Amino acid sequence: MLSEFTPCDIVAITAHPDDMEICCGGTLALAVHQGWKAGAVEFTRGELGTRGTVAIRSREAEEAARVLGLSCRLNLELPDGHLHDSDEARKLIVRVLRLMRPRVVIAPPLRDHHPDHIAVAEIVSRSMHLSGVAKCVPELEPWRPHVLLHYLSGTRPLAPSLVVDISSVFEQRTRAMMCHRSQFFAEGSTERKTRIAHPDFPKVIEGRLRHFGGLIGVAFAEAFSTEEPVPVADVVALYARTPWAHPPQEP
Ligand SMILES: [Zn+2]
Repeated sequence: MLSEFTPCDIVAITAHPDDMEICCGGTLALAVHQGWKAGAVEFTRGELGTRGTVAIRSREAEEAARVLGLSCRLNLELPDGHLHDSDEARKLIVRVLRLMRPRVVIAPPLRDHHPDHIAVAEIVSRSMHLSGVAKCVPELEPWRPHVLLHYLSGTRPLAPSLVVDISSVFEQRTRAMMCHRSQFFAEGSTERKTRIAHPDFPKVIEGRLRHFGGLIGVAFAEAFSTEEPVPVADVVALYARTPWAHPPQEP
């Protein structure tokens, strides 16, 4: 069931129903193809969103989760536009982390244009340590994820710490993002205009993914920052792939 907390290897925790698809859906889809269980949790139903309704956005999010092959997608139903770091919010995320037990957690960047995104980044980063503290929320078994990655949303200049090649899932990622039809440009729509409803927005996302891809010599990539050093067991294996390797020629 998508609407129940289930253990996942990798979980994206974001503010609004379309944030994950726009910023890091490819990394989740890729993890699913590699045999891992992936999940997504949103803080709000996006009720403050200029376009669409809660019901429409919820259906779109469910459809996108199926396109990406997620094991679990949940909404915490906190008030859109009013998120802030608090003891209550941290305890909620400690519960989420302990129920889902992910190794990798993805959150928004700590610097961004939207206050909800910054709030989620702060809440999740403060909850990572607390989730491993047994006497905090004592009714649930402690769990400390291995790493917190902040996706790069592209609205503030940030340097990536790691770049994930998502070329093999680019089409799937795009299909999942475009499930959020209410948020994007539609010919003849009478809804108010927004930044992401600009007809060029999908091209901006494609450009961003191509730019990140260019950093490591692949077609498309998603980029992340992390405050912790990246542990490496085999530095040669890490760099085994040839950047800008040409595709095999047809005989
Ligand atoms: Zn958002």
